Amino acid sequence: MSKHIGAHVSAGGGVCNAILNAEAIGADAFALFTRNQRSWTSKPLAQPEVHAFRDLLAERGFDPAFVLPHDSYLINLGSPDEATLQKSRAAFLDEMSRAQQLGLRLLNFHPGSHLNRMGEEECLDQIAREINLALEQTEGVTAVIENTAGQGSNLGWRFEHLARIIEGVENKSRVGVCIDTCHAMAAGYDISTEMGYNFTFDEFERVVGFRYLRAMHLNDSKKGAGSHVDRHESLGLGAIGQDCFARLMRDARFDGIPLILETPDPIRWPDEIKWLRSQQ
Ligand SMILES: [Zn+2]
Ligand SMILES: [Zn+2]
Repeated sequence: MSKHIGAHVSAGGGVCNAILNAEAIGADAFALFTRNQRSWTSKPLAQPEVHAFRDLLAERGFDPAFVLPHDSYLINLGSPDEATLQKSRAAFLDEMSRAQQLGLRLLNFHPGSHLNRMGEEECLDQIAREINLALEQTEGVTAVIENTAGQGSNLGWRFEHLARIIEGVENKSRVGVCIDTCHAMAAGYDISTEMGYNFTFDEFERVVGFRYLRAMHLNDSKKGAGSHVDRHESLGLGAIGQDCFARLMRDARFDGIPLILETPDPIRWPDEIKWLRSQQ
């Protein structure tokens, strides 16, 4: 199967539960938090839990290449505040290390915000330096930068921002991007029409390059193109509409990477996954 589809499932009660939750919705890819996403500190993963995760993943037939951990929302590698930056640096390294321990290859994160206290380029260059620090201290895990809706002072909403960060990362083999369709739409890339879809992904190829695409978040958007408002919607019920997702399923440029739903209604996930598969 060329497309690998799942959702961001709960890891409540331990990371192994994420595997069972993904299996229960008929997924062959999934995303999870490996620590409390709203807390700066988290107790280390215990060895028995790490072994159980690796064993269960294999037993249930999941390929680690299609598991996409997402980092904590608190982390801001672009922070102009030294204390926040230091906490972010430590937490980001911990997230990368946890992914490595679990035998995973990707860590999905939001680039960061300048909080209107530093220039965009300065902030993007700082994010790249922070990625370099984490890559030096870990092995085998790729830092996967997610595009954003551009809410507030969040960077990463223009493909040029992603390209600038990648430019500053020394080990190009361990940096990649995840395109969230809701965020792209909110950022002004109108993927609801065939013309807009073609323009957006041609632009992505020109500015960043599909060779850096390591994952997708498949979400419809409650708000329209250029709204800069990050509100996910179930597939087909928002401003993007079904056609974009059907087109994406027939587009070979999205083969071989995790395609992850972060749509707001988990009850719909099994049907959303079935529908996506039926569009191939
Ligand atoms: Zn995200
Ligand atoms: Zn996302």
